[in-house]
Amino acid sequence: MYRLAVYIFLVVNAIPAAAQLLLPCPAVVVDMGEYRNPLDDRWLSAYDVKFYHLTLRVTNESTRIGGSAVILAEAVKELDTLVVELQDSLEVTGVEIADGGELDDFRFRAAYTHRENAVYVALDRTRLPGEQFAVKISYGGVAGRNRGFFAGITSATDSEYGFRVTYTLSEPLNARDWFPVKQVLGDKIDSVRMDLICGDHLMAASNGILLGVEELPGNERLFRWRTNYPMAFYLLFFAVAEYRDFTFRAPLSSAGDSVPVQNYVYDSDQLLADWTAEIRETGRLIHTYSTLLGDYPFAAEKYGHAMAPLGGGMEHQTMTTIQDFDFYLVAHELAHQWFGDHVTCGYWQDIWINEGFASYMEYVAAQQIFGQQAADEWMSHAMSLALGETSGSVYVPENRADDPFRLFDTGLSYKKGAILLHMIRYILDQDSLFFQVLRTYLDRFGNGLATGEDFRSVLEAESGMDFSCFFEQWYYGEGYPLYQITWRHDGDTLFLRSEQSGTSPATPLFTIPFDVDLLLSDGSAVRKKFFQDQAVEHFKVPLKGLVRNLEFDPDNDLLNTASVIRYTPSGGSFIFGPNPVNDQLYVELFNRGPIREIVIYSYSGQVVYRLSDAPNPVTLDLRPLADGPYLLVLYDETRTLMERIVKISE
Ligand SMILES: [Zn+2]
Repeated sequence: MYRLAVYIFLVVNAIPAAAQLLLPCPAVVVDMGEYRNPLDDRWLSAYDVKFYHLTLRVTNESTRIGGSAVILAEAVKELDTLVVELQDSLEVTGVEIADGGELDDFRFRAAYTHRENAVYVALDRTRLPGEQFAVKISYGGVAGRNRGFFAGITSATDSEYGFRVTYTLSEPLNARDWFPVKQVLGDKIDSVRMDLICGDHLMAASNGILLGVEELPGNERLFRWRTNYPMAFYLLFFAVAEYRDFTFRAPLSSAGDSVPVQNYVYDSDQLLADWTAEIRETGRLIHTYSTLLGDYPFAAEKYGHAMAPLGGGMEHQTMTTIQDFDFYLVAHELAHQWFGDHVTCGYWQDIWINEGFASYMEYVAAQQIFGQQAADEWMSHAMSLALGETSGSVYVPENRADDPFRLFDTGLSYKKGAILLHMIRYILDQDSLFFQVLRTYLDRFGNGLATGEDFRSVLEAESGMDFSCFFEQWYYGEGYPLYQITWRHDGDTLFLRSEQSGTSPATPLFTIPFDVDLLLSDGSAVRKKFFQDQAVEHFKVPLKGLVRNLEFDPDNDLLNTASVIRYTPSGGSFIFGPNPVNDQLYVELFNRGPIREIVIYSYSGQVVYRLSDAPNPVTLDLRPLADGPYLLVLYDETRTLMERIVKISE
C-alpha cells in the first residue's frame, strides 16, 4: 500500500503534463503485503548464501539420494545458529563447520536438530556480520514421493519412449525436498558446484558447464558441473537417465558469437528421428531472442535441455528440463532464461515477471519465425483463456502467495499476464520502443530481482508515459472491460457512444485507448483511436463518405468483449445480449422478418448451436454451452452478421 502510493506521487510529479498520454489514477489502496518465508525474519535473513557444493549419489530408479551439501555463507547479523530448510523425510547424518573459504577443512563437528523441515545448526562460535564460514551437511533418504507436479524430486517413466528418469523441480518452495537450502528469492546464490554420482550406464545433467566425467570403481560415474552466474535457489537442478548428448552451437546477436546448446535427450535413435528439427529450432530462437532482447544471458556457459516426463517444462538456469520439443514449450522455457532466471520475480506475488513475460515471448517468437497470422492465432487462443478469468488479479494476493496452483494459474499468470504486455506494446504504439523498454529493464535488473513496480518504473522512464492507471486496473485490478458500442453516421459526422463496465466490481472501469476500423462504401477503411476514461463517453468524428460497417478493436489488441450496434433507419444490423451470457441470449434483427439462420461457432470453428428460420426477435437458450468465447453469426437474405459472445455460468 505504502509503496504504490509513493510511486504514483513520484510519477505524476516527474512527468511533464504534455507527456501524460494516460491519465493518472487517483491513488487507490492496494494490498501490497508481501509473502515471506516464515523462517525468514529470524533465521534466514541472518546470512547470505555465497556458494553451494552438492555431492549426491543419484539413480534414475527412485528419488533416493545421498551425499553432502556444503553451504558457504556470510553472516549479515550476529549469528550463532544457522538454519536451512530440509524435508523431514531426509535424514541428516552429520554437520561440520569450516571457517572462511576453507571448503575442504571441516574441523568442527556441530550439534544440530532437524525438525519441521528445517535443520538448526549450532555454530562453534558467534559469527559477526561480514564473516564467511562453511557448513557441510551430510544427508540422504527419499523425499518428494507422490506429490504430483509440485514435488521437489520425482522418479518416473516417459510413456512414449519408455525411459526412466529422476529429476528435480523446486519451484516455488520445494528445493528442500532434495537439498538443504535457503528458500528466499532475495538471496541469489553466487555460484554452484554439483557433483553427481550415478551408474555408469546413466548421465546426470545440471546447471552450467560440465567440467568433466570421471569413471569410478563399482561401475559408477561422476558428473562434475559448475556454474558461476548468480542463480535463484529454485533454479538449481539435476536430472538423471539413460541420456545421449546432442550438442550444437547457436548464433547470438553478432555474427561469429555463439553459445553451445547441450541437450541430454533419451538415448534413442527414434527420439532423434522424431525431434531433431525441433531441437535445432532452439538455435534459431536463441538468435531471435538475442537480437531482440540482448544476448543470451548465460552465454559463457551453455543453454540446453534435459528430458524428463514432467508434463511440461521447467526453466532451470542454463538447462531447461523438458517433456518434449513442442515449439511453444521450447520458446517459453528459453524466454525464461531472460525473464525469470536472469531477472527473477522479487516476490512470488510478482510471478508475472516470470510467467507473463515468458508467455508473451511465445507470441513474439511466433511473430518473428512464423509470421503475424500464427501470432494472431496464438493471441486469440490466449484471449479465449483469459476471458474466462472474469475476476482475480494478475498480481497474486498475499494470502495466495504460497499456493502453487494460484501462482501458476494459466489464465491469470500466463495468458492474461502475456496480454498485459501485448496491451502495453499497443499503447506504446512503437515496436522499437517496446523492445528498448525490455532491454533496459533486463540491463538494469539482470542477475537480480524485479517486481511489477520495477518494470513499471523502467516503462515509464523510457516512454515518458504514465502507466499508474494501467497497472492499477490491469495488474492489481480484476477482470476486463465489456464494451457496448453504438454508432451512427450522419452526414459528415460519425457519432460513437461507448459504454463500459467491468466483469468484476473490483475494477469497474479500464481507462485505455481502443481502435475502430470504419469500413467505407468505396471499399476503403479508416482507423480511428479513441480514449475512454469514463463509464459512458460520446465521441464525434468528422468523416466523409458512407460508413458501411464498424469493427471494434480490429487487431485484437485488448482483452475485452464488445457488442457493436448500428442505429440505422433502414435496418441491416442487430442487437443481442446480455454479453457475457449466462443462459438466455436475446437477438433482434432490425426491421426484418424471420432470421434465415443463426449459428454459434466455437473458436476452434465447430458449430455448437444452429437455428434455422428463427422468429425475430428470438431468445436462444445457451445453457448447454460450455463456458468460453464464441462467434454468433446471423445469416440474413443478403449478408452475414458476426459478433463475439462469451458464455459464463453463474
Ligand atoms: Zn513458465
